[in-house]
Amino acid sequence: MTKKARPRALLKRLISWRRGFQIVFGLSLYLAISNWGISLWWVIAAGSALGIFLGKFFCRWMCPMGAIMEMMMGAGDEDGRKRSFYNYFKMGCPIAWAGGFLNRMSLFRVRVADASRCKSCNICDEACYVAQFAPGHSLHLKDLINPSTHFSCSRCLNCVKACPAGALTFQARL
Ligand code: SF4
Ligand code: SF4
Repeated sequence: MTKKARPRALLKRLISWRRGFQIVFGLSLYLAISNWGISLWWVIAAGSALGIFLGKFFCRWMCPMGAIMEMMMGAGDEDGRKRSFYNYFKMGCPIAWAGGFLNRMSLFRVRVADASRCKSCNICDEACYVAQFAPGHSLHLKDLINPSTHFSCSRCLNCVKACPAGALTFQARL
């Protein structure tokens, strides 16, 4: 494996563990609020501030309610699930509203890191509920809008995981 391929492989592995992270973080947060007296306002403030760096990351990686909602929406056909995620992540909670608003400016976003690897297979857009339901959005077509800047992108990173060529990444805009 080349030096450049290693971080991409590690990122894909982390994404495949996302639900595990979400359950562990979610349970920890629940315990912190219910047993240790951590104020919900602190959680809302910290989760919203996280949006400056990662956008609406909290919902799909750290939120206990998000984990429950995701399990509830797990049933049904693939298109129905994608539409539910698209609509659900438009409503959200205060952290989701702040994160969704900050998606447009967050330091990290999904992007094509290596255009020479992209085969224009469109698998990323098929995996992304924003690209499926928001007109004019695409992860790989340059003249369309990047779905990870859309309010509904919850940093599921399904697009990065789905790209067979390893062309997509979730990276800081430096
Ligand atoms: S899945 Fe990867 S290779 Fe295919 S169009 Fe998207 S970025 Fe390009
Ligand atoms: S992380 Fe990728 S697949 Fe998930 S909603 Fe955002 S752009 Fe779409």
